Amino acid sequence: MTALPKRNLDKSNAQFQRALKRLPLGVSSTFRYWGDDRTIYVHHGKGGRTWDIDGNNYVDYRLGYGPAILGYADDRVDAAASKGMEVGGVFALSTERELIVADRISRMVPAAELVRFSNSGTEAVMAALRLARAYTGREQYLLVEGGYHGLFDAAMWMSNMDEWDLGSNQDPELVPYGKGIPPTVKQLAHITPMNNYERLEDMFKKHGDKLAAMLIEPIQGNCCSIMAEVEYVRLARELCTKYGVMLIIDEVKSGFRVGKSGIQGLMGVTPDITTFAKAVANGYPISVVAGREEVMRHFRYGGASHGGTYTAHSVSLAAAEETLRILDETDALETIANYGESLKAGISKILDARNIVHSYTGHPSMFGLFFAETPPNNYRAWKTSDYSFYDTMAHYLHDLNIIVEPDSREPWFICEAHGKDPSCLTDTLNAVERAVDLVLE
Ligand code: PLP
Repeated sequence: MTALPKRNLDKSNAQFQRALKRLPLGVSSTFRYWGDDRTIYVHHGKGGRTWDIDGNNYVDYRLGYGPAILGYADDRVDAAASKGMEVGGVFALSTERELIVADRISRMVPAAELVRFSNSGTEAVMAALRLARAYTGREQYLLVEGGYHGLFDAAMWMSNMDEWDLGSNQDPELVPYGKGIPPTVKQLAHITPMNNYERLEDMFKKHGDKLAAMLIEPIQGNCCSIMAEVEYVRLARELCTKYGVMLIIDEVKSGFRVGKSGIQGLMGVTPDITTFAKAVANGYPISVVAGREEVMRHFRYGGASHGGTYTAHSVSLAAAEETLRILDETDALETIANYGESLKAGISKILDARNIVHSYTGHPSMFGLFFAETPPNNYRAWKTSDYSFYDTMAHYLHDLNIIVEPDSREPWFICEAHGKDPSCLTDTLNAVERAVDLVLE
């Protein structure tokens, strides 16, 4: 790999050494560790950019894994959050703003007939699965390969890649995403490859009457933004209805990003339960479980237990009210999608000029870049593809002050502030051109 003039990370490197003594891997989320000499410590973010403690200024396409939909430290949202701070935090009682935000969510997403708030995506999906179990009286659930639904034990399963024989018609063996996840949990889980219609029907034939829920991320924000085909999600809907299974569409990443009513709105599919998080409050911690009234009413004494000390925190709620207002009433989502399209067009121009075959996955607001003529249509296709060009390019992009995920799993997230600051696009395209040439060297 050609060395670029060294980006100064002296302060980050020194901070890493100090942090290592108190914080495992020197970080508070394992995914923030990028190596002993490349782990960055942030000074602050503003708009579509992040500054590290060495003063390097990056155009940021990770946006905290998606939440900063308007941009970091958005003045409108922060002013609202300050008002929320004046309210006082949490009370072990409810506030009026909960209904205001819930009403907005229901107006934007028709399937969200009733709404409950939680704090993180993980919590929302945990609650959604519990609700599905309470409603159906069943315990098992179906996952889709390549989906990510948070850190709780029930969600941390993928299929054993040694057993990817699609002809065998066996349920793939489940393997955990790491240690500490008890194998007994997997007795309740099944997994199926996305966009494989036959396997999905087989899965329901075999297990449908025991399934409480099918969990699907129709745009896989943790797997190169690979999309489920609309027909596949429609089939999932049909099968869930036929077998009395709750369809949970996990919109933690896509919700209030790909459209006002999320990916379910774009695909025209109505889930029983939806989970939202990330973009709801532009980065303030809040998540949402929403769904069909008859199902949601099972959050009750003697039904599905749900709560939490910090649910519907006044700061996050106030931030959510303002963020959703902006997303609903202004052209912010259009600005985001237009920027995504311009960025993709600019990247393609650079790659086409060098005869580099490539394609995109996902939505312009959260797209994956893939170095093959046709993009992967499921996790297996992505996992078995050659993504080394991407990984090397991403490494150079970091050195050129563009933050993207170090591998192609996470998409490029776009925020409104990118679209409002023309220098983001020019800086990015200049860096992409340089990075691509370095990879080709
Ligand atoms: N569901 C999806 C689709 C996600 O992308 C994520 C996180 O990236 C989660 C759930 C978990 O959310 P959190 O990290 O807020 O717990």
